[in-house]
Amino acid sequence: MKKIIFFLAITLIFTACKDESKDNGKLNIVTTTTMITDLVQNIGGDMVNVQGLMGSGVDPHLYKASEGDVSKLVNADIIFYSGLHLEGKLVEVLEKMKSTNKTTIALSDALDKKTLIGSEYFASNYDPHVWFDINYFQQFAIKVASVLSEKDPKNALKYETNKNAYIIKLEALQDKVKQTITTLPKEKRILVTAHDAFNYFGKAYGFEVVGLQGISTATEAGVQDVQKLATFIIEKNIKAIFIESSVPKRTIEALQASVKSKGHDVKIGGTLYSDALGNAGTAEGTYIGMFEYNVNTIVNALK
Ligand SMILES: [Zn+2]
Repeated sequence: MKKIIFFLAITLIFTACKDESKDNGKLNIVTTTTMITDLVQNIGGDMVNVQGLMGSGVDPHLYKASEGDVSKLVNADIIFYSGLHLEGKLVEVLEKMKSTNKTTIALSDALDKKTLIGSEYFASNYDPHVWFDINYFQQFAIKVASVLSEKDPKNALKYETNKNAYIIKLEALQDKVKQTITTLPKEKRILVTAHDAFNYFGKAYGFEVVGLQGISTATEAGVQDVQKLATFIIEKNIKAIFIESSVPKRTIEALQASVKSKGHDVKIGGTLYSDALGNAGTAEGTYIGMFEYNVNTIVNALK
């Protein structure tokens, strides 16, 4: 970290000598997770350059800034990140950016804290996986549009139009998700995954959610956790458990083996996208595609 801070200091001095860096008059935006990158691209369209730091399959809890990342952050006009300590290892660098008066926005700050799920695992005291409630993601969209309009007033109308179009798509997604979930009997709505990313999903769409690892992937699941959860799966007669794309699958496989050692079977229902979207250029590489894919995978496997 020392090295990065040193590099940061050097870069800040260096960039202080330059004009506000703008390519073709477009805003340079740096984002952290793939969900935020997709959102800002949807609202910003051709009017902005967006550089996402994290790719698909990248775990934001563990992601550390490289020197190249720091240089991108320093040269950005706006930085959007998720917040609530989701990006646990970037907090220091992001706070540093904020302290230099760079427009640095934690999108979760736009949400009403009273409605959030508390968590003792995070320094923020809140569960940061808020994008799994589509209503919260809509509020992210509104915040992004308002920040872009403020920084780039000549395109404000276009940002507003893009935001409205995107929100209509999110509302359609919301309807579709609810419809798909109604096809799964209520007693089968139990979601067991690698880490606790789906609490907001559970709250919004009526699932009991159990994560094998704590709420952050920074803590490993112990043998006792595995045993306890195996018993729970057998008692509740749960058909399937799920791997996550940004978490190693060994813990879920250990859970499956533990259920088997007790004389029962649970299948692996598929890989869910939790803290990162799928590959760019695929349907799952977008927030909307990811959400549909997850819900279809969950419902089909648990039926
Ligand atoms: Zn997570």
